[in-house]
Amino acid sequence: MSVFTVLNPATEEPVTTVTQPCAEETDSAIAGAAAALPGWRAVAPGDRARMLRAFAAAVDSAQEELAGLEVAGSGHPVGAARWEAGQVRDVLLYYSAAPERLSGRQIPVAGGLNVTFHEPVGVVGLIVPWNFPMPILSWGMAPALAAGCTVVAKPAEATPLTAMRIAALAREAGLPPGVFTVLPGKGSVVGQRLVDHPAVRKIVFTGSTEVGRSIMADCARQVKRLTLELGGKSANIVFADCDLERAAATAPYAVFDNAGQDCCARSRILVQRSVLEAFMALLEPAVRSVVVGDPASAATEMGPLISAAHRSHVASFVPEGAPVAFRGHAPSGPGFWYPPTVLAPVRPDDPAYTEEVFGPVVTVTPFSDEAEAISLANDTPYGLSGSIWTSDVGRAIRVARAVETGNLSVNSHSSVRYWTPFGGFKQSGLGRELGPDAPDAFTEAKNVFISTEGS
Ligand code: NDP
Repeated sequence: MSVFTVLNPATEEPVTTVTQPCAEETDSAIAGAAAALPGWRAVAPGDRARMLRAFAAAVDSAQEELAGLEVAGSGHPVGAARWEAGQVRDVLLYYSAAPERLSGRQIPVAGGLNVTFHEPVGVVGLIVPWNFPMPILSWGMAPALAAGCTVVAKPAEATPLTAMRIAALAREAGLPPGVFTVLPGKGSVVGQRLVDHPAVRKIVFTGSTEVGRSIMADCARQVKRLTLELGGKSANIVFADCDLERAAATAPYAVFDNAGQDCCARSRILVQRSVLEAFMALLEPAVRSVVVGDPASAATEMGPLISAAHRSHVASFVPEGAPVAFRGHAPSGPGFWYPPTVLAPVRPDDPAYTEEVFGPVVTVTPFSDEAEAISLANDTPYGLSGSIWTSDVGRAIRVARAVETGNLSVNSHSSVRYWTPFGGFKQSGLGRELGPDAPDAFTEAKNVFISTEGS
């Protein structure tokens, strides 16, 4: 057992301390989840649905409290934090409809029929990063519970507070002990134990590609089911025929949302050369007017970075002499602040252009035609998200089909909707979360033949 101090990223002051379990305590929690499994999977579908709705109602009642914890413990602007708590409620409500819809199939065969059942995969280990502690928790937790699995979740070490409160709300709402457990702790201890423990039958991991790769290798040893949601280096492609004002006005929010600590951040803006100058002239005031400051203020649009170490990492992408085109504001004094920063022109091998920064730094690169735009957008090992700005419907569809990413928006910077599938191509991940089919990914299809022949 060890003790971790949660810091307020906006003030650098301690918020609270959290006791972290050791590997043996992690084993006990996994044993508790395994013991709860037979009872939870046997709950009648309608009753499981009602329990998930009661859980959603408890989250709804605690929305302000959860938002306050995220403001203090993660530095999220309060408007965003309220939305994130609401997202947990909404995801639970959406998947509360799933237990009654987990239908199998009836397949005609000679001499009888085959029926398929969706059996819960078992205990699920859910490993969550620090950038969106509430939504990402809910994206794994809700469909897994709906499918009849029990869940042991590990929030990121730095941001455990909302997940711990959500676990308490689950109990208050009537979920039986062991059905949903949160273990704050280190990835190398609690997370690794979830990956290694044979009673955990599926891992849902969101985090860096590097850690995801090693978890995938570890899961392979037990042929353990796995979903990976990893990094991104997404392109925001701006064609000359688009509504340039809108494209420029929303571009900062496509990358600086959550201070750029967003796997879907469109951190490479690609602009058709003929409108590059006009776009930059519109982008500059949009970037300078992003409201960066006290996360507790309702007017704030961008808060601090998560930690001093992460700020140093982000700053390393903007060394002395970097091609800074313009910057927004950031408070001085305590807090892990970093200003919205636009780099242009950048070399194709500049790490700010090729690597995931996970901070408020964006590059702008010109292209000449559609083919070059597609080629630049795809010239990355990642493939998570992206945007296309054009008034030509045919081009929008052509380019969307050609860009190798899992989630694209046309004339919009939106990314994740819980009722549509979410996940990456290439090194951005494996499998899909969310959408109507997500509970199926927490089940195994069982195929049973029933003879209709007389004895
Ligand atoms: P990490 O990969 O460092 O950590 C993610 C989670 O994994 C944390 O809970 C961490 O614990 C845990 N962990 C670390 N090592 C292990 C291990 N050996 N075994 C099991 N668990 C482990 O990522 P970050 O927290 O830095 O998150 C940022 C990354 O997440 C970015 O690359 C981003 O792109 C990606 N991301 C992807 C999303 C998607 O949906 N595709 C969404 C959001 C983020 P601990 O906190 O103790 O280190």
